[in-house]
Amino acid sequence: MSWLHKKIFWWGANRRNPSLYKQFLELKKTERLSREELLKMQEERLKTFVEFAYKNSSFYKAHFEKTNFNPIENWSLENFKKTKPVSKADLINFNQEIHTPVSKNEKTFFVETSGTSGEILTFHRDELWDSFNRAAIWRGTSWYGVNPWDFSLYFWGYNSDFLKKTKLRFLDFLVNRFRVFDYNPKTMASIGSKLNRVKAIEGYSSMIYELAQINENNNLDFSSLKMVKGTSEKIMPHYQDVAQRVFGQRIISEYGATECSIIAFECPKGNMHITTEGLYTETDPETGGILVTNMVSRSFPIIRYQLGDEVKFKDSNFRCTCGLEHPVIEEVTGRIGSKIYGLDRSYPSLTLYYIFKNIYFNKRIKIDFQAHQFEKGKLQIWIKDKLSPELNKLILTEASNYFMDLELELIENNNFRENQGKLRDFISHIPS
Ligand SMILES: [Zn+2]
Repeated sequence: MSWLHKKIFWWGANRRNPSLYKQFLELKKTERLSREELLKMQEERLKTFVEFAYKNSSFYKAHFEKTNFNPIENWSLENFKKTKPVSKADLINFNQEIHTPVSKNEKTFFVETSGTSGEILTFHRDELWDSFNRAAIWRGTSWYGVNPWDFSLYFWGYNSDFLKKTKLRFLDFLVNRFRVFDYNPKTMASIGSKLNRVKAIEGYSSMIYELAQINENNNLDFSSLKMVKGTSEKIMPHYQDVAQRVFGQRIISEYGATECSIIAFECPKGNMHITTEGLYTETDPETGGILVTNMVSRSFPIIRYQLGDEVKFKDSNFRCTCGLEHPVIEEVTGRIGSKIYGLDRSYPSLTLYYIFKNIYFNKRIKIDFQAHQFEKGKLQIWIKDKLSPELNKLILTEASNYFMDLELELIENNNFRENQGKLRDFISHIPS
C-alpha cells in the first residue's frame, strides 16, 4: 500500500504545494554548507526580505522609519537591530497594514492561530512559505529515514465530535496517518497488527509519554519505527526512560510556531538545529526572549518578532558531530512572563521544571504534575498519582530550595489531563 500513499502524496503535493519538492531539494543541498557559508547566505536573504517588507508592507515602512532605517539605503545588521521588536499584539492590531499585496493568481492559505493567552491571530500564508515549512519538516524527518508518505501514528487527543473525527480519519487516510484520539489500552489494541508498520510517531510529548506508560508491559511491536517526535511541550527527562523501553528510542523534538515556521529540528545526535535557510533568530536585549525573523513570510512579514519563549542558544563555536553546521538551540527554557507569585517575590514558572527534574535525577521518582495559582503567596500542585507522606515531604523540601515566600498545597490523584490540547505545567489564574 505504500506505493499508493506515495502516489497520493505526490498528487496532493503538486496541487497544494507545487514548490514543496524543489524547496526540499534546496534544503538538502544547503544542509552541507559550512557555518560561514550558511551565515553569509542568511544575511543576504535577510537583507532581501527586509527590503521587500519595506517596499510592500505599509506597517514595516513606517515601523523602520521610526529609527531612520531604510534597508535600501542604509542596510546593516546594526541598523536592522535598532528597529523595535514586533509583538503579537502588533500582528493582531496592525494585521491589515502588515499584509503585503499578493497577485491574484498566487495561492495563499488562511491561517488562524490562538496563543495560550487566548487572543487569536489570523493571516494569509503564501504558497512558498507554506511549502517551505513543510519542506523544512521533511528535511528533519529525512535525517531519520522518514518520508512524508510513510505510515505514522499521530496523537491528537480528545476530540469527541463524531463528524469531525470521521472527516479527520479520511484526511488521515490520504496522508497515511493513523490518528489516535485517546490512549486507552483498548484503542491501542485495536491498532494492533498495524503497529509493526508504523515508521513515525508524533504528537504532544506528554501524550506520547502516557501512551508509552500505559503500554509499558504490553510488548508492542514497533519494529519499523524510525522516529518519535514530540511537539509543543517540554519533554520531561522521565518521559525518555519510558520511551526508550517501549519505542526503543528517545522522543526527539521539533520547535516551531505557526507564524514562525519550523525554527529548529533535533538531529540524531540530539541537537536542535536552527532552520538558518529561512529564519534569522536573535535574543531580545529587553526581555531575553527569542526574536524571530521569518524570511519566507512574504505575504505577512514576521520581523524581529517576540515569540514569547526564552531560548538558550549554544555557543557559536559549537559544532555538532552529526556534520550539520546549522547553529543550535540548547534549550527552550520556557515562556516569558509566566510567573509564580510569592507574597513579596516572584519566580519564573520554569522553577517547577527544575524542582521535579531534581527529584527525578536524585531519587529516580517520576512525578506528573500541574501547578495552579489562584492567589499570591499560594500555589497548588496537582499530582496525578497518590502521594505518600514521604513523597509529600520530598517535594516540599525540594521546593523550599527555590521558593522563599510561597505556601504549597499538594493535591493527589488528580487527572488534569482530561482537558483538550497542550499540557501546561503551570496555569496562573491571577489576572495580569
Ligand atoms: Zn546535529
